[in-house]
Amino acid sequence: MIRKDRLKNLLIELVKIDSLSRKEYAIAMRLKREMEELGAVVSIDDAGERIGGSVGNVIAHFRGEVPSAKPLLLCAHMDTVVPGEGVVPVLEGDILRSDGRTVLGGDDKSGVAIICEVLRVLREDRIPCGDIDVVFTICEEAGLVGAKCLDVARLRARTGLVLDSDSVGFLFTKAPAANHVEFVVRGLAAHAGVCPEKGINAIRVAADGISRMRLGRIDEETTANIGVIEGGMAVNIVPNSVRLRGEARSHSEDKLEQQTRHMLQCLEEAASRYSLELDGRQFRASVESKVAREYDRMDVPEGSGIVRLVRSAAENLGVEVRTMATGGGCDANVFNQKGLEVANLSTGMREIHTVKEWLDLKDLYLSAQMVLEIVRLNATGGS
Ligand SMILES: [Zn+2]
Repeated sequence: MIRKDRLKNLLIELVKIDSLSRKEYAIAMRLKREMEELGAVVSIDDAGERIGGSVGNVIAHFRGEVPSAKPLLLCAHMDTVVPGEGVVPVLEGDILRSDGRTVLGGDDKSGVAIICEVLRVLREDRIPCGDIDVVFTICEEAGLVGAKCLDVARLRARTGLVLDSDSVGFLFTKAPAANHVEFVVRGLAAHAGVCPEKGINAIRVAADGISRMRLGRIDEETTANIGVIEGGMAVNIVPNSVRLRGEARSHSEDKLEQQTRHMLQCLEEAASRYSLELDGRQFRASVESKVAREYDRMDVPEGSGIVRLVRSAAENLGVEVRTMATGGGCDANVFNQKGLEVANLSTGMREIHTVKEWLDLKDLYLSAQMVLEIVRLNATGGS
């Protein structure tokens, strides 16, 4: 049985440990100790060194007593977003929130705490289960970087759950692929007061291109954003360069490709409208682009083992879990990209990435019960 007080207390302890992306050392040590106490073989990989962080991913192997059961992966991320240092948790009834100066960090310490509690109960109550691989990742919030660095050959599990979603009662099985885009629009510098006609204003070219871009929600599967714009040197200089950074996401590869191309095209067409002749030479605005795949899409089939397992567990507990597509990416995208079948289950966290973040402990307890039932059912071959 899930011990609610113990789960609550662990969550409160964990949110008080500062763990911004790349600074997860303290919480990693705390969790390593926790996993070792529970009898796991624990290692820390070299992801931290590779990305300039203070510690790597924590990987814990639990040996089960039911060899016929498929090994299961349970994963949550250790890092939190800003402002996330010096979190002061405030508990009112069953609602846990921060004092309003920081995020709570229930994203994703609720997932971490659930995994710890479930493993404790499995041992305490001697519930037969198969092998379990636990991964606590670093730097999820910095672009799923910890999961990307993880060598999945270190895991026995080929299926499982990431516990990192804010949609209570839902299992995320689909998530979009995302492209990161960077454009540099180049113009021509000139004195803005003395001879502006000898310049091409890169900010104006960029603005012209952006104003013709389809952005925001493109359709039900696709979104796009220009999120950062930097350029210009002084108010009296016609700016010669502007850098734009943005993204496009889609559940469809074709649409993602199309939207990414569209964004570049708008800027290139804008650039082609700005040129001038100076001392017999022709000058044109131009665009350079860099497109990088942020992560691939995730699409776990309805009939897959993990989805059926979650549904059966929910049924046993008398609750409903519906599958859903999300617009966000999470570590599960990376696991699926690496050939595993991993879905993302809700933990009770709400209004994440804001200082208003909160969590209803009742949702947290239910999610822990779900995970426990999933592990138990997995060992009975029942789904
Ligand atoms: Zn998260």
